[in-house]
Order: sequence, then C-alpha cells, then structure tokens
Amino acid sequence: MLKTIFNLPPQQQQKIAIIGAGAMGVSTACILARLGIGQVTIFEAESKAFNNKGSSINNTGILHHFVYGGHQKTLEYFFNQSILFRKLMPEYVFGDNQINYLVPNEEGNTAINDAGVNFKDVAVALTDIYRKHLNNYKNENFWGQPEDLVKILDEATIKSLLGETHSSGQKIAGGVQVRQSVLNIGEYACHMINLLKLLSKQNLIEINYNQRVDNIDISKEKIKLNINGSHQHCFDTVINAGYATGLEVPIPVPNNEQYREGNLVKLKVYGLYKIPLTLKQKIPELNTNFSSIILIRGQYGGIIKVGSDILAVFSGREYNQSELNFPVDTDSINIPQDWLENLEKITGRTEKEVSQSIKQDLARWIPWAKELEDIKLKKAVQVYPSRKPADQLEAAQRNDDPIRYMYQHKNGGKYIHIPGFKLTSIPYQSFQVALEILSIYIHREILTQEQVEQHIMLDSNKYIILSPEMEYALGKGLDQSAISEREKIMQEWDIY
Ligand SMILES: Cc1cc2nc3c(=O)[nH]c(=O)nc-3n(C[C@H](O)[C@H](O)[C@H](O)COP(=O)(O)OP(=O)(O)OC[C@H]3O[C@@H](n4cnc5c(N)ncnc54)[C@H](O)[C@@H]3O)c2cc1C
Repeated sequence: MLKTIFNLPPQQQQKIAIIGAGAMGVSTACILARLGIGQVTIFEAESKAFNNKGSSINNTGILHHFVYGGHQKTLEYFFNQSILFRKLMPEYVFGDNQINYLVPNEEGNTAINDAGVNFKDVAVALTDIYRKHLNNYKNENFWGQPEDLVKILDEATIKSLLGETHSSGQKIAGGVQVRQSVLNIGEYACHMINLLKLLSKQNLIEINYNQRVDNIDISKEKIKLNINGSHQHCFDTVINAGYATGLEVPIPVPNNEQYREGNLVKLKVYGLYKIPLTLKQKIPELNTNFSSIILIRGQYGGIIKVGSDILAVFSGREYNQSELNFPVDTDSINIPQDWLENLEKITGRTEKEVSQSIKQDLARWIPWAKELEDIKLKKAVQVYPSRKPADQLEAAQRNDDPIRYMYQHKNGGKYIHIPGFKLTSIPYQSFQVALEILSIYIHREILTQEQVEQHIMLDSNKYIILSPEMEYALGKGLDQSAISEREKIMQEWDIY
C-alpha cells in the first residue's frame, strides 16, 4: 500500500472531482492522492484514460526549453517546467535527448526572435539559467554540464542533417543542438496508465469512464456535476481539465475578480512517418544517431523522433487547421464535430493528401522528408490562453498563469479551470493546482503553511521544491509494465 503524506481523517477530507483523464487530470489526481487530503474522483467522457480524442497522446512530446526563448521570463519558466518533468519521471518514458534547431535564412522568420534577440543569444541565456540552477541543485545535471547544454552547429553537421543530396534553394543560416528531453509518447502514456491503475487499485483514486460531465452547477453547499445528462454528484472542489471536447461545459458564473480570460482553441495536424530502408541506406545517420530537427521560423516546422523508428513531422502551413475563441462565461460553445470526425471537410483534401503536403512543405528545407513513408495523420486540439496570440512567442509568454478561471465557493471549496496547454507544463502546473487546493486546508487551519512547505514550495526562481515523498507522486520509482501490456496499450489506444 502506498503511503500518503497527510493522511487526514475522513471528516477533514474534501470531496474532489477532476474532469478529464488526460495528462493534466491524471497528474493532478496522482499528486492529490499522494497528499492524502481528499477523496479524488475522476470523470472521463471516453472509455479510456489518455484516449485518442485528447491531446495527451496526439502530440510531438518535446519538453520545451529553447524555442520560445526570445522572452527571458518564458525561457526561465519553461526551463523550470521541463527540468521538473525530467526529474519526476522514470528514465524509460524518454526517447530522444537532444534537438537540432535550424534557422532558415529568411527575413522575419523565427519563432524565437524577440526584438534584437537571436538563437545564439538564447543559447547563452539558457546555459546561464542551467548553470545557476546547478549551483542550487547540483544533482539535477540531467543534460550534463552547462557548457554541454547547447552546441552551435558547424556547416558540416548542418549539411549532414539535411542529407548529402541537399539541393534545396532555401539556405539555412545556422543552427544549434540543444540537450532537452523528448517524451516517447507510447511509453509515457503506458507509464501514466500504469500509475493510475495502481492508485485506483489501492482506492486512492476513483476513476469513472464513459461519464461525460455536461454541466457544472453551484449550490449553496457544494459544486454539482451533471453526468451523462441524467445523474448528479456533489463535490467540495472541482478541477476541470477536460478541454479536449469539454469546453462546452457551462461553468459557474464568473465574477470580475475571479475571471481570468478564456481560451483560444486550435485544431492541429501533423503526420507520423517511418524511415524507409532506402533512405536509411542513403543517409546512414538516420539509422544510428538521428535526433530531431526543428526549423525555427514564424510558422515553424520539424521532424521529431517520437518512438523508436517513428517520426512525427509538422509544418507551419499545415499545422494549424482551424481555431475558435472560447471566452470564459456561461454560454456554451461546442467544438465543431468536423474537427474531430471529418478533417476532409475542413481541409478540402483527403488525409493522405495532407500527409503528403506536410512532407513536401518541409522538404523545401530538409529534402529527405519527402521520402518518408506515411503511417497516419494525427489531429488534436490545443488550448491557448484567451485571445489570439500574435505569434508562437506571445502564446508561450501567456502561459505563466495556467489557471484560466477560478471560482471560490463560499464554503471554502474551489472550481478550477485549467487546460494543460503544454505537456511540458503539466507536472509543474499540477503541483500549482495542488498548492491552490492545499490553501483551502491552511485557511481552515487543518494544515499549516509550514506543513505544506515541507512537501511542496516554490523557491525564489519559481522552481518547485518537493519533499522526497512527493518526488515519487508521478511514479518515478514505478517499474515499467510488461512489454506485452505496453504493446497492447499502444495498439488499443491507437498511439502509433
Ligand atoms: C498537435 C499537438 C502537438 C503538441 N506538441 C506538444 C509538444 O511538443 N510539447 C508540449 O509540451 N506540448 C505539446 N502539445 C500540447 C499538449 O499535448 C497538451 O498541452 C496536453 O496534452 C494537454 O493535456 P490535457 O490533459 O489538458 O488534455 P487532454 O489530453 O486533451 O485530455 C482531456 C481529457 O478530458 C476528457 N474530457 C473532455 N471533456 C470532458 C467532459 N465534459 N467530461 C469528462 N471528460 C471530458 C477527454 O476525453 C480527455 O481524455 C501539443 C498539442 C497538440 C494538439
């Protein structure tokens, strides 16, 4: 039986509901369960956690700490998040450990540039952040020494990444190789599913599948969830992490102080591909030590290694297919069914044609991309804070206030609306949510600030410091499940 931290008696425990069993909902549930402060119940609309409708298995898995670096605060924030992710997860959930960033030689082309900042400046700033971090936490040297973190690429290396056959008219101005973690999405999903099973077997989390929350209502005493249009459950606190198709859920009436903007939701599309044998023969490095390539441009694109022998390819022209604004108010807005079911209607092309087009677009810079073998097209929605950001950098900058909307029930409980935004951010933001919930117990004098800070606190650089027990909350010490089990999940969940 797993030991919980506070082990509060039942009468002091809150009833906590979590909507959505994607990475955000499951991570938050695991942390709350480990704290031992409430009865945690997850409601998931589909029949599986980490299902194909959500974005947690439909993404490229880069734990970002470089590409949005034109803005120093964002660079620091993503660094804190990605190093925490790396620290809390077992080794086996990671695939690639470095990414090559190439900068095409175009005017106004980068997602990284803030006025007067280029990729070399970001490299220096990131190295400095890592150095300072190691001064305080010397064991967290996951990417080697500070001077190993970012390498400026020489011309020969750039040429080898593009392939000897490179004949593209488009020139690359330069590049860097950054040590950063990339998730093996299949292994990551299997790990989280395994952890969730363990915690529900031990009655630390209750999970209900095929239970769609379709309304959230505030009563005098509690927060009520309407499920599947028929039954109702009451909770003290509700965390809404069900954004994939859940943004249409009307939420408690905002009042001005608690209102914190809404969401911008985008339909994103990328392709999964295999490296064919002929290409491996032509460029042997692809077989041996290939690591991901990202083009830093306004509408950026790239090739990410997402599993052994599988590449995810995305390209600016095809990446964003549609978008909708969801202000946080009582009106419900539905994500169009076509987004999830009929991509052809949106793009006017077959999925095969879109897969081809992604490769062709990227091949303007990386010619061998067009020789990749199609596996399938992946699509998912991603949620950004509020209004349309001017560019990728602005979208990232706006990420430092993850809780989009919070309602404080007069009885002390809370309603928290928190879309995951970036996978990179999820462990960090789950601990932020846990702190928000722990504040209820401090307010009621059930726990003291000191007791909480012994287990979770932010240092002066906004890095989250955890007690040794809490470091295991996301399954760090958990053995990988049997290979047959993992293969079954990857197939049934349709991950690749
Ligand atoms: C194409 C793409 C590429 C990306 N690449 C990266 C990347 O490289 N790096 C990175 O850090 N991030 C990336 N992201 C972002 C990342 O995938 C998301 O931030 C993250 O997965 C969000 O997790 P979540 O749990 O909030 O949402 P989801 O995984 O979408 O989970 C939401 C869950 O809620 C359930 N649900 C919805 N409505 C209801 C309801 N009413 N009742 C009950 N359950 C409900 C859904 O079924 C689903 O299981 C990418 C996203 C996309 C779309």
